[in-house]
Amino acid sequence: MSKVASESISDATETPPLGDMSAEDFRRYGHELIDWISDYLAHPEQHAVLSSVKPDEFEAQIPSAPPATGESMEAIIADVDKLVTPALTHWNHPAFFAYFSISASAPGIFGELLASAFNVNQMLWRTAPAATELEAVTLSWLRQMMNLPEEFDGIIYDTASISTMHALAAAREKLNLRIREDGMTGRETPLPLLRVYASEQTHSSIEKAVVALGLGQRALRKTPVDENYRMNAAALAEAIAEDERAGALPFCVVATVGTTSTTSIDPVREIAEICKRHNLWLHVDAAYGGSAAVVPEMRFILDGCDAADSLVTNPHKWLFVPIDCSVLYCRQMEVLRQAFSLVPEYLRTAEGEEVRNGMDYGIQLGRRFRSLKLWMVMRYFGHEGLARRIREHCRLARLFASWIEESEDWQLLAPVPFSLVCFRFRPAQRQDETDHDYRTHLDQSNEAIMHRVNRTGEAYLSHTVLREGFAMRLAIGNIRTTETHVRRAWELLIEQAAHQSKGNL
Ligand SMILES: *Cc1c(COP(=O)(O)O)cnc(C)c1O
Repeated sequence: MSKVASESISDATETPPLGDMSAEDFRRYGHELIDWISDYLAHPEQHAVLSSVKPDEFEAQIPSAPPATGESMEAIIADVDKLVTPALTHWNHPAFFAYFSISASAPGIFGELLASAFNVNQMLWRTAPAATELEAVTLSWLRQMMNLPEEFDGIIYDTASISTMHALAAAREKLNLRIREDGMTGRETPLPLLRVYASEQTHSSIEKAVVALGLGQRALRKTPVDENYRMNAAALAEAIAEDERAGALPFCVVATVGTTSTTSIDPVREIAEICKRHNLWLHVDAAYGGSAAVVPEMRFILDGCDAADSLVTNPHKWLFVPIDCSVLYCRQMEVLRQAFSLVPEYLRTAEGEEVRNGMDYGIQLGRRFRSLKLWMVMRYFGHEGLARRIREHCRLARLFASWIEESEDWQLLAPVPFSLVCFRFRPAQRQDETDHDYRTHLDQSNEAIMHRVNRTGEAYLSHTVLREGFAMRLAIGNIRTTETHVRRAWELLIEQAAHQSKGNL
């Protein structure tokens, strides 16, 4: 025997084997991790909702170079526990009231776990048959739950920002301006200014979409809103007419059901009529608000949306599905396909046109198996279970809003159509807001109160700026949030406001 062979044998005794973790270890650590997750979810009070970590503090605790040899799972899990967890802001905490609160429900977590175990790439039907078809099934189920028209077909992307960008790309494709082939610059006959309309309260993702599509920020015309932050439809009609007179080419309107600042609902039915008159694509951004339509008595929030060309809703926002999962419904999937399908030889399959290949309907080739977690959440809770939970969140928000309204020292700053409350502290003894200094003072005091509450680690709120000035936002949407959590947030606000106003207001 040669020297080489004996050396490789002795090496094998010292070097860890190739391949993955053993099945035995996977089982052991898997059980351990599930135990860890169960404790994490059952005892949220152990963690400050908003992390108090300072920038770079976390990074300083982690070796700057990668380990040369493998480490034990014990050591890795211990670091997740000791280092990572305290340096996170806990979105899955029931007292997370900032932005739009979200949830990874237990069946959703299992869905994620299985999806990564399968690790299928859903680029083609044949590379993931069940995943491709389960996506169609779950989107049909969700469509039925939301009472959307049957003609709405759909696709799952990661986020609403991406869904909206694809919707706008489809709207532009429908113009038949050969933009797909010729682009927008250096053309023989220059293109007119292509216009998209949305309200002043629209989400920044609409603006990012026009940037990404090369339409430019100038393409987005923001129209005024009414006293309740809803798009003013008459102003929209005027803006379109004015642009047409000036030689621009209006092609798309984005209406919002549940705006980010206040959850206002644009008058979609009126907007749809304007779109029909001018032959414009109507895209509805219902990223947060759409989920509420699974509650039968709240279906009115999508009034008029049956006339939309596309609609985005995020099950990862208020349908208890772990981030990320965004659904784009589209009346004409073939337009989306025209905009994006590009099939190189190595991706051609025998099934051809008979099947849906996910890669044809967007920028990305590779796609995660996101429908699995959505399917598991829908099956585990059922339509009724989902509706009851969302209904309860709305009840809690109205309850909180009623405390604000009953208190002389607090002020509600916007209607509460869903589960978000916008409010501020405004002590009764002094309400002369014509005084500019007083307004500034109110803004500063409210900001200070919010930071004080957030620093307690017991609740986390965020803010916006409304007509009156600085507004705190309390958003209810986590599946584990109960009335106790909302009451505690109210107590904290009162305590911190008392603290703040001592000799101050
Ligand atoms: C959250 C939200 C978005 C952005 O969602 P992402 O999935 O994070 O891109 C867009 N529009 C509205 C109305 C939202 O509430």
